Amino acid sequence: MMQETTDRGACAEFAHVPLSSADRQVIFDAVADFGPQMSALARRIWAAPELAFHEVRTSADMCAVLEAEGFDVTRGVAGLPTAFVATRGSGPAIGLLAEMDALPGFSQDAAPRRSPIPGQDTGHACGHHLFGSAAIGAGVALAQWLDQTGTPGQVRVYGTPAEEGGAGKVYMARAGLFDDLALALHWHPDDHNRVWQSASLASIGARVMFHGRTSHAAQAPHEGRSALHGVEAFHHMAALMREVVPQGTYIHYVMRQGGLAPNVIPDLAESHVGIRHPDPRVAQEVFDRLARAAEGAALGTGTRAEVTRTGGVYPILPNDMVGRVMLANMALAPAIEWDEADRAYAAEMQQSMDAPPPLDGIDRLGPYNFGTQGAFSTDVGDVSWLVPCGALGTVTWVPGTRPHTWQAVAAGATPIADKGMVLAAQGLAATAANFLAAPELLARARTELEAARGPGFTYRPLLGDAPPPIPA
Ligand SMILES: [Zn+2]
Repeated sequence: MMQETTDRGACAEFAHVPLSSADRQVIFDAVADFGPQMSALARRIWAAPELAFHEVRTSADMCAVLEAEGFDVTRGVAGLPTAFVATRGSGPAIGLLAEMDALPGFSQDAAPRRSPIPGQDTGHACGHHLFGSAAIGAGVALAQWLDQTGTPGQVRVYGTPAEEGGAGKVYMARAGLFDDLALALHWHPDDHNRVWQSASLASIGARVMFHGRTSHAAQAPHEGRSALHGVEAFHHMAALMREVVPQGTYIHYVMRQGGLAPNVIPDLAESHVGIRHPDPRVAQEVFDRLARAAEGAALGTGTRAEVTRTGGVYPILPNDMVGRVMLANMALAPAIEWDEADRAYAAEMQQSMDAPPPLDGIDRLGPYNFGTQGAFSTDVGDVSWLVPCGALGTVTWVPGTRPHTWQAVAAGATPIADKGMVLAAQGLAATAANFLAAPELLARARTELEAARGPGFTYRPLLGDAPPPIPA
């Protein structure tokens, strides 16, 4: 049994009622039985890593596995060719999120040392091949348990593309695909086991193009209107604004274009801005002020500003009820067990790390930090404002591994990853079953969500009406 390091009393309340330990064991066993198929799927996706919005083979493979397990699959939802929704059963709907995209610049084989694969430029450096595969494994086990017990419930696996910079879930949220869910669960590959209910930051991104008039910088400077001046004035105003915005606001900017030669007054210049704040309403207000600053900069420099929103995500709204039920089920899940080969692999990989943590923590569950403010943004945020949402992480990487590293790619195709993926699917499926067996817990989670959102909440995506940036 897994050791839990904190908060045992808090989770004991949900650990035994109303999901019996026999039922929980049925689910754990069903996930373990499906383990080889999960691993095979993850290994296929790992071997052919596809970038955000390009997950064509990955999505098709995931859909085929789900259809073979009796799910009805709708492909190409929300205008995203690689997004899908797979459903099985009927009753209160449980959403399992399945990310799938890889990252550029991460060619690496499964060796515990730096070892790029010749001719390959992408890699699963964030473990999303495991992410989607475990969601499917959890969905299959949960659906089997619902059938066996006659418990009402619908399993819905959401294939959510382009987490890495594309925010696929936001387009799916905007299309209303999460609106009728009772609960949404997800996880992430990690170097330790945990249930996380920390908050993230709302984020809005925009491109600001300044249009001026070109002229010879010496012969006829008065005929020119410098687009670069527009960007410079705009960035100065943005920098000043940092003093007079609500605490916790981040304003980021870069210049992407500013002219080509100093003897030509540039007619085109481009700024990219990012705004973040823990509260999506504040992020929106600051964005509106920044858009007016762009107009002011254009007015003062005789140029024209064109503001185009390029992205926007809500912060994660943590849900303590979901977190505690998840914690209880994770604490009861079978602990990860490494064999000698796993330990040898990990020990060798840790030689590439500075001060790696000890390996003896892989069977423990880390502290539960409800509501801790994180300095990151994710497209899960939008989902968490629409439906009670919970997340866990498991050891799929060698302790000391950070996401977006070659070490994450390498371990992603080893038994270490397979074992962590099984634990993740067990935690997700048992948590979902726990809620379906006790609809009153679902109601409490929903009440908590509504209180946290505040009265009169209406979901308005921070993305605005921007279309998905589907590559040609
Ligand atoms: Zn990730």
